[in-house]
Amino acid sequence: MRYGIISDIHGNLEALEAILKELKKEGVERFLMVGDVVGYGANPKECIEIVRELPGITGVAGNHDWGVLEKTPLEYFNLVAKEALIWTKDVLKEMHLKFLEKLPLMVEEEDFTLVHATLEAPQEWRYIYSTYEAHRNMDLQNTRVCFCGHSHIPIFFFQNEHVFFGREEVLEIKEGYKYLINVGSVGQPRDGDPRACAVIYDTEKKVVKYIRKEYNISRAQEKIWEEGLPRVLGIRLEYGE
Ligand code: ZN
Repeated sequence: MRYGIISDIHGNLEALEAILKELKKEGVERFLMVGDVVGYGANPKECIEIVRELPGITGVAGNHDWGVLEKTPLEYFNLVAKEALIWTKDVLKEMHLKFLEKLPLMVEEEDFTLVHATLEAPQEWRYIYSTYEAHRNMDLQNTRVCFCGHSHIPIFFFQNEHVFFGREEVLEIKEGYKYLINVGSVGQPRDGDPRACAVIYDTEKKVVKYIRKEYNISRAQEKIWEEGLPRVLGIRLEYGE
């Protein structure tokens, strides 16, 4: 099976369309989504409508998805995020909210686990930046591979006796190891590379590969500004931060 894993789309339609085209070109058969379809960007409705229809889609909720539903209180978010969430909540229709409502916090299947932030306390939206934090998560991981998002930083951790991390583009999945893979962000990358980011997991070749794809950033920015969303949400897209 060839899985395409996307995360942190954040209402960025241009980035979503570009990365999906690339994933389909690479022969992805089934799509997985690890949270934050909405928040920040100007096209939350369109992004939900596309994600909903992806072949084999299975997804989990992110903090912004929960923010819109007010399952996570708005006080949790910084001012800019909060402003965008209030705007997003206002434009979403019943059907979009229902889609977000149905997303679980965690999914475990034979081939993978999905969680937006951590397995330890998914609803607390903690970040995994260190091998120590990754280790705590991997102790709770029942599958060989777990995909997460949230930090918008493409990075992977792997564990046998100890936990290591890597940033390579291609990762070989080996016996005797566990892997925790942050798939990066489709709609608001923060690793200094503004291109949309996602991951392909090929279970036959036992390989995970990061995909980066250029998209029409200026169009996404213009829409953010036209909607009167905070200017910084447009500006940061071109710097990938
Ligand atoms: Zn996010």
